Amino acid sequence: MTTVRIENDNLLKLPKEILGSLELRPGAELSVELDESGRIILSPIKVLPINSQAPLQSSIKEKNLSTGIQFIKGVGPKIAEAFERLGVKTVEDALFLLPNRYEDRRQLREIGSLRPGHTEVFEAVVISATVSSTRGGRKQYEVVAGDATGTVSFKWFNFNAVWMKKVWQPGKRGIFIGEVSQYGFHREIHHPEVEWITAGDDISTVMAKDPATYGRIVPVYPLTEGLHQKSVRHIMKQVVDTFAADVETYIAAEILARHHMLPLADSVREAHFPSMDSDFQKVNNGATPAHHTLVFDEFFYLELGLALKRRGFTMEEGIAFEVNHKYTRPLLKLLPFTLTHAQRRVLSEIKEDMMAPFPMHRLVQGDVGSGKTMVALLAALVAVENGYQVAFMAPTEILAEQHYLGIHTLCDSLGVKSVLLTSSHKGKEREGLLGQVAAGEAQIVIGTHAVIQEKVEFLRLGLGIIDEQHRFGVLQRGILKKKGENPDILVMTATPIPRTLAMTVFGDLSLSVIDELPPGRTPVVTKVFAESRRKQVYGMIRDEVEKGRQAYLIYPLVEESEKSDLKAAAQMAEELQTSAFPDLKVGLLHGRLKPEEKEAVMASFKANEIQILVATTVIEVGIDVPNATVMVIEHAERFGLSQLHQLRGRVGRGAHQSHCILIASDKLSEDGVKRLRVMEATTDGFKIAEADLEIRGPGDFLGTRQAGLPEFRVASILKDGRILEEARREAFTLVERDPELKLPEHKRMKDELVKRWGGRLELAGVA
Ligand code: ADP
Ligand code: MG
Repeated sequence: MTTVRIENDNLLKLPKEILGSLELRPGAELSVELDESGRIILSPIKVLPINSQAPLQSSIKEKNLSTGIQFIKGVGPKIAEAFERLGVKTVEDALFLLPNRYEDRRQLREIGSLRPGHTEVFEAVVISATVSSTRGGRKQYEVVAGDATGTVSFKWFNFNAVWMKKVWQPGKRGIFIGEVSQYGFHREIHHPEVEWITAGDDISTVMAKDPATYGRIVPVYPLTEGLHQKSVRHIMKQVVDTFAADVETYIAAEILARHHMLPLADSVREAHFPSMDSDFQKVNNGATPAHHTLVFDEFFYLELGLALKRRGFTMEEGIAFEVNHKYTRPLLKLLPFTLTHAQRRVLSEIKEDMMAPFPMHRLVQGDVGSGKTMVALLAALVAVENGYQVAFMAPTEILAEQHYLGIHTLCDSLGVKSVLLTSSHKGKEREGLLGQVAAGEAQIVIGTHAVIQEKVEFLRLGLGIIDEQHRFGVLQRGILKKKGENPDILVMTATPIPRTLAMTVFGDLSLSVIDELPPGRTPVVTKVFAESRRKQVYGMIRDEVEKGRQAYLIYPLVEESEKSDLKAAAQMAEELQTSAFPDLKVGLLHGRLKPEEKEAVMASFKANEIQILVATTVIEVGIDVPNATVMVIEHAERFGLSQLHQLRGRVGRGAHQSHCILIASDKLSEDGVKRLRVMEATTDGFKIAEADLEIRGPGDFLGTRQAGLPEFRVASILKDGRILEEARREAFTLVERDPELKLPEHKRMKDELVKRWGGRLELAGVA
């Protein structure tokens, strides 16, 4: 009797019929016997049911997906640390660390058919090995190798000659791997990988010994310091062989079928080590059914979480406001304009939500200048009409002040009490304000995050408004919500967020879009200027000022060097005043000024006592001076396109033609200039946002992790937008049918959801 232990590989070599119903997994043992008639009898000695914790190598006690990566053979503390830098702590993390690209090593090439630009694998014999010099006089080690079809050179530029001479002896045979480049008729490979073949050895035996490296489509993984491609590949091979089978999908079978999804385990395997008959181009473009399955699976759970969250809101009890027009109608009479169609449509969407007996969670998206603030104020007045308070939160102090300035005069004439609450209110003043808020006297409380600090208590908060949501996390929304009893939440953003991105970041909110600007605005003409043409820019400013107009000159403020940047802005103002425009008045506005000082500067600019206003990006949003027709942005290359678009939105608010001038460093690369040219080409915020997203990627686009943007393991919202939409449709339909995922067949899906997104989506009510 012979005993066979099932290892990863010999498991595969047993015919399926034999394995049959036996649940044989690595670690199981069988006895193999012959009966009288010579047939093979396999009988299990140790059978492991699925999901058993099979003893693997002695170092792994429990084999499951949360097994630490350090328990894998070949992973020492150093490598484990490096893996952790890539976000890989467990074997599950490793399974979802997908290759960046692949190399097709299914066939050995002949030297005559090596393709420049490709990483090729071939067998050859070393012909010569010498130290030579490059044309530039640098030493190089050069090996010439050949087969029956031709020769190729290998080169090294950093080498130990003694050691090289020992290794690279003419006559030795090996398998070589490397990226081929072509110089005239001559092909060479820099520092190739080699596997020596000892005399008498069969090449296929050598290759079979290392199936992670040869004879297949080979994955190329993202690396970090301390990780080498070859060893990562071996580690991954082990991880995939041992653990991929444990990856299960819990998405409902009908959905899987509708989208032609493969079993998740197979997809993981395929994505790491594609099968022999795969279409290499598809594999390399991440366009195989395996990739599709992984991406869908990931998006589906996110969208499921968002769908449940949204559903959860509508199941909570909220305030059912009444629209009685007590303040809103008089306000509309006070305004020197009528609302645009888009404003009216969005307002009625908001009102409908507010009248409903569950909390509103709505996002209003509208380009700069589309009149969001007015819509927000009208919504605020609906709450006030019902005897509730409103919290209106802006991301910066100057913005909060701007809103306050714009709103409180209107409120005063209506007899509604509005207050400003920021962190610069201290001591007695602050206590007084907090008292008014707690007593319900302050009806509209405008401020920064100071509004949601612990000490702030509202008597009856009915509506929370968050301006420029992308700068606040999901968390702030949650805190604001807890300041009242399920108040309505209205979120506003001027950043035109591309659809796919909005679906992931704001997927739990209902969306309203103000897609129309108030009438009478002329599109801003934008031009990129090199630093060296500054004189010309000053000429343009002067022309406009002589026509009675005004100009902004914006200086970027980089946090790390805030002090020196402030100095630069101040210096710029001083210089403009003394040398370029001594006959005009130049003002300076930055975040370090006291609120009264800022207000004074803004007031003189509004009154045209100041013609040129030098400012840091504090004016990014909210400032409104229709007579200003020139926006000059210094060091434009330091800004994101969306931010430039916001800044540009400060001009073009009156009837006169406006100009935006982007001053770029003379040293700016061609790509950098090309990026800025997007601003010349379009004033469509959505197009700019798309371009920005493509250039910078989603995390950066929204300004860091704070945005609450989920981090995907495999999916990319840039590339996989279509799959995201499919996944969203399925998830939302499913939640409509089973709003709490109570059906027994959805239980495991729900558990998986909580495991993956519970914390990140604050799905408290779901678990
Ligand atoms: P946003 O916050 O969307 O950038 P604002 O609310 O600041 O835009 O509005 C920009 C300017 O347009 C403000 O001066 C505002 O008073 C004005 N405005 C708002 N709605 C209208 C409208 N329907 N017609 C004319 N001007 C409007
Ligand atoms: Mg605004």
